[in-house]
Amino acid sequence: MVIAIDGPAGAGKSTVARAVAERLGFTYLDTGAMYRCVGLAARDSEEPAGVVASRANIAFHDHAVLLDGEDVTAAIRRPGVSDLASQVAADPEVRKALVAKQQEIVATGNWVAEGRDIGTVVAPDAAVKVFLHADPEVRAERRASQLNLDVQDVLAKQRVRDERDNTEGRSTLEAPPGSDQVDTTNLTLDEVVDAIAALAEAKR
Ligand code: C5P
Repeated sequence: MVIAIDGPAGAGKSTVARAVAERLGFTYLDTGAMYRCVGLAARDSEEPAGVVASRANIAFHDHAVLLDGEDVTAAIRRPGVSDLASQVAADPEVRKALVAKQQEIVATGNWVAEGRDIGTVVAPDAAVKVFLHADPEVRAERRASQLNLDVQDVLAKQRVRDERDNTEGRSTLEAPPGSDQVDTTNLTLDEVVDAIAALAEAKR
């Protein structure tokens, strides 16, 4: 069974997806981390990003992300890497390579997969498809306080990234057809997890 969670930056996808996975005993897949790895690897490579993406060995180990055997868990969260990831993610060759890897991963077992195109491209047959959103200001405040950055600066960059990320079958600006919308602006984490767990229960 796959639970797909899509939405824009800062909507709470990773926190929510991790908590839903823990509640239901599913495995969590952070597809954004994979684009972040490719952004990082492409920056240091002469090869086109598509080639880098198809060669990259990206593995998840507990809470760590490994790129070609190196622990890049902290490196991929550095602020500049969000932008690098968003840039390589606009390359169809990169998307083709990473979507194939993601489809292979979720083909067996129970997954909570989180990204921008899970319910639309990676797992269109997912049992549960959730589009998480929140007011742009609230999203920017969450990111800024997490990473200790200036809110206005985060808000401006977030706007650019949301628009760039809203292409190639990806949704960041509105819920794709067939998905359940959950607005996290005024909900606690537990309330969001309850809502998604109830959707999953109804499908079991
Ligand atoms: O979710 P996160 O902020 O870690 O994602 C980093 C970038 O990776 C996004 O801005 C987006 O460009 C890209 N991405 C994507 N498709 C996904 C997940 C992430 O294009 N499924």
